[in-house]
Amino acid sequence: MAPSPKKEVGSWRCLFADVHGAVENPGRSEEHFFSRWMHDLLPVDRSKNKHHQQLRKPHEPAALSVNRTGLTVDRTIACVCRSCNNGWMNQIEGSAKAILSELVSGKRPKLTAAQQAAVASWIAMKTIVGDQDHPTTSAISASDCHAFYNDHRPPAGWKIWIGSYDGAEWQMGYTHFPFRATYGGAVPPHDRHYNIQATLFAAGSLFVLAYSSGIIPEFPVNGIESHLMPIWPFQSDPIDPESVAITTDADANRWYIAFENLVKLANG
Ligand SMILES: [Zn+2]
Repeated sequence: MAPSPKKEVGSWRCLFADVHGAVENPGRSEEHFFSRWMHDLLPVDRSKNKHHQQLRKPHEPAALSVNRTGLTVDRTIACVCRSCNNGWMNQIEGSAKAILSELVSGKRPKLTAAQQAAVASWIAMKTIVGDQDHPTTSAISASDCHAFYNDHRPPAGWKIWIGSYDGAEWQMGYTHFPFRATYGGAVPPHDRHYNIQATLFAAGSLFVLAYSSGIIPEFPVNGIESHLMPIWPFQSDPIDPESVAITTDADANRWYIAFENLVKLANG
């Protein structure tokens, strides 16, 4: 993570400003979705522009496909202040870096409970930052963001899986699915338009699925357990990546379609 100062615009505030209040270094900072230290480990072909995003805006059922300039690996999101980025967020990077380096590089080491927790915190951080890329499609509540600031752990109602990826289409691929779910015929109180999100991404050989919902306790997509290991909430120590199948482009695309169908169903 190499924050670069950015000019203050309008009434911009750090995503965590409500919790930390006034800080020493409140200026806006750009957070790399794919951490800077990780770039040398990723199979980046800088001759190709593969920065593609699917956006789903409120009240617009059809997703908008967007080809953006630059490479996905260079994608930054300016939603936090320099104090957060250089401080506690950088510590989360540091705690997860060693084990993430192995996973991104294609090694499949067993993960201790502490390593699983470090990776889960890093994934939650990236998921929260990614959710802020387009505030109109945000689905992670302010209270979840505040809980993460305080605990540095995925908030209640979150589920996180990781797997080993081998493919081409999903290299540095990132997808964010916001849902608006009803419960008992009503939309439960929530401070964002959407109230559930699923984020899928691949960084080198690491495949990630992060799902956050305070509303629907059961995970809505079947058939991931043969490929992805749950690391949050904690289940077993250690976990062995050799015990699950490698995630291919066909697997990732199958889950993508399952989520897309769920989003169509939920968002109408
Ligand atoms: Zn901050």
